[in-house]
Amino acid sequence: MALTSCPACSEQVSTDAKACPHCGHPFGTKTPDGREKIRWWLVLLVAAVLGAGFYFYWDRQMDDARRNGCLDAEQWAEDELGIPSNPEDC
Ligand SMILES: [Zn+2]
Repeated sequence: MALTSCPACSEQVSTDAKACPHCGHPFGTKTPDGREKIRWWLVLLVAAVLGAGFYFYWDRQMDDARRNGCLDAEQWAEDELGIPSNPEDC
């Protein structure tokens, strides 16, 4: 049985004690703080969802830009319609 000092009153307390016998400061119930952990997981989850959402939005915007790209249109016109492409027009 080891002794530790109470964080509240600095008296020597057994590490097996559930609470400080001198001041009643509770041990073991505060660490680990489950609610605090869950809060951090929620922050991480929200950050991940926002990051993924932004990534997919940005990726779609890039796809649209590529689809509507002038060079692609020129290439398509050349391939499909036989019109000579002129990238300088873009
Ligand atoms: Zn104490």
